[in-house]
Amino acid sequence: MFEDIVETVREPLIVLDPDLRVLSANRSFYKSFRVTPEETIGNLIYDLGNRQWDIPGLRKLLEEILPENNKFDDYEVEHIFSGVGRKIMLLNARRIIHQEKGPQQILLAIEDVTERKRIEAELKDYEERFRRQFETSKDGLLLVDKQTWDIVNANPAIMKMLGHSSEEFIGKQLKNVGLLKDVQDLKETYRELIQSGFINYENVIAETKYGQLIDVDIHLVDRARFIQCNVRDISELKKLSTQLLHSQKMEAIGHLVGGIAHDFNNILTAIIGYGSLLHNKIAAVDPLNECVEQILAASYRAASLTHSLLAYSTKQVMAMTPADINKIVFGIQKILDRLIGEDIEFKVHMASEELIANVDIGQIEQVLLNLATNARDAMPNGGALTISTEHVQIDSSSIQANGHGEAGHYAVLSFADTGVGMDEKTIEHIFEPFFTTKEVGKGTGLGLAMVYGIIKQHKGFINVDSRPGEGAAFKIYLPLTLTKEELFKKTELTPVPSGNETILLAEDDHAIREVSRIALESYGYKVLEAINGEDAISVFTENNAGIKLIVTDMIMPKMLGNELYEKAKMIKPGIKCLFMSGYSDDIIQKRGILKEGINFISKPFSPYDLLRKVREVLDS
Ligand code: ADP
Ligand code: MG
Repeated sequence: MFEDIVETVREPLIVLDPDLRVLSANRSFYKSFRVTPEETIGNLIYDLGNRQWDIPGLRKLLEEILPENNKFDDYEVEHIFSGVGRKIMLLNARRIIHQEKGPQQILLAIEDVTERKRIEAELKDYEERFRRQFETSKDGLLLVDKQTWDIVNANPAIMKMLGHSSEEFIGKQLKNVGLLKDVQDLKETYRELIQSGFINYENVIAETKYGQLIDVDIHLVDRARFIQCNVRDISELKKLSTQLLHSQKMEAIGHLVGGIAHDFNNILTAIIGYGSLLHNKIAAVDPLNECVEQILAASYRAASLTHSLLAYSTKQVMAMTPADINKIVFGIQKILDRLIGEDIEFKVHMASEELIANVDIGQIEQVLLNLATNARDAMPNGGALTISTEHVQIDSSSIQANGHGEAGHYAVLSFADTGVGMDEKTIEHIFEPFFTTKEVGKGTGLGLAMVYGIIKQHKGFINVDSRPGEGAAFKIYLPLTLTKEELFKKTELTPVPSGNETILLAEDDHAIREVSRIALESYGYKVLEAINGEDAISVFTENNAGIKLIVTDMIMPKMLGNELYEKAKMIKPGIKCLFMSGYSDDIIQKRGILKEGINFISKPFSPYDLLRKVREVLDS
């Protein structure tokens, strides 16, 4: 019976005599260790299979532990057999006293646990890997118990994302931690999930512990005992893709506008050219004269509009030189102060270090003027405008947050006002040409479009921060040029010349007249304004003794600039005159609009250009 039992047991068994020679072995033993009964029976166990069974661990068990205890249980022995490879065995032995058969025998049971150990190790490895992934995943991960639908585990990413601590997650349902709140029947969802293996929710809203709403993708995956819930925060991604769309849109508009402005400019050149010829041919007393003048005046207005559009479209020719942003601000601050008026407190905080950037000084001044004008318009009842400059280093992480720019050093020019502010919808559009929220006649919608174009051409970028009622902050980033070579070439801004003469300023465009007056007054001049040619003559007639210079627009209603000059010369020979023209110098000369040797400054000009030119003409 004993032998029958031995034979039917599935695990390898051998029976040894007290000298450790093999008395018998079962089929499983032969099969597992690939030995034959002939090689086995009667041999010392250690000699089996070419002494492959001479295993130190086995010797110790059979010779030391067994004699002492008459048995041993579940000893793990690992050994590499040349025929069957590495085996992990659990060894059990009993000393058996056989009454009839005389001497005692040793029953040795060998359980092959190699495969089980391998699976255990793999499982452990897998669990370890899973645990590590769970802990370090950038996605939020939750494990949900399939019986109770309670959360049983939460990884650090989800804690950070939703603000709950690990204890606060455990035992809660997904809905109670702000996930899938608008799914009506979660039980039904889970049933579906178990059928299909996974369910994805894309672009849904999750609510954090503090009530903040974030955009997420949620993937539920059936994993044996648990449902794994992956939560990916896509708000950053969404932000970036809207930014991308926005900049693509701006670029497209830029191309369109640039193309139109360029062609339009050529057409205007023809209109102004032939118009001027016609104007020269028609006698001043001719009733048609007035018509031609109106045509020319309108054409010049169109020309100045195309100038602004060209600035936006970044097709403008820039005169780049390395310059200190602080000095540009410093130079123009008086003018800005005047421009914004007395009700608005004006503060300037300048970086203590030099901020050398490669810029077109006139264009940057234009940017400052446009921003200051907007700030003034945003504070009809007064407030404060703070301009500051600083050196900022941008690394790749803040680029991600902002969505634009390149890593590096920047001069940052900030304009912060305490005005009416803007809502998000408005901010989205402010840089588009012709976008304005101001009443007809007040806003052109070109100020910020120009700013955008100019800054883009300087390889910079702009950030806007504003909320309705909370003021607005514009931050302009201009890449700093720090190479020695460029620093060496750096040009000093020449000091702006001032004066105390009285100047007659004739200009029909209110905005240009205002900026020019402010610029001149800021530097000591006394300014008498006139809104058209006739007005200018009457002002001049009254005050001609004091007036040293006439600064006049070339094209004005009622009387053109050169007529004004001719008349003024008759009243006061030797009076000097500076013409402002909406068209560039070469066109004016080519078309013979102005006689040679005449002073003019082409629009748009920066207040500096004007101040320098005025001094030059006065001193000539
Ligand atoms: P405009 O000033 O002619 O309207 P802009 O391009 O300069 O054109 O500005 C576009 C719009 O941006 C303004 O109409 C206004 O709605 C908004 N805006 C610009 N600057 C500010 C500011 N500092 N505060 C509030 N809103 C502003
Ligand atoms: Mg504006």
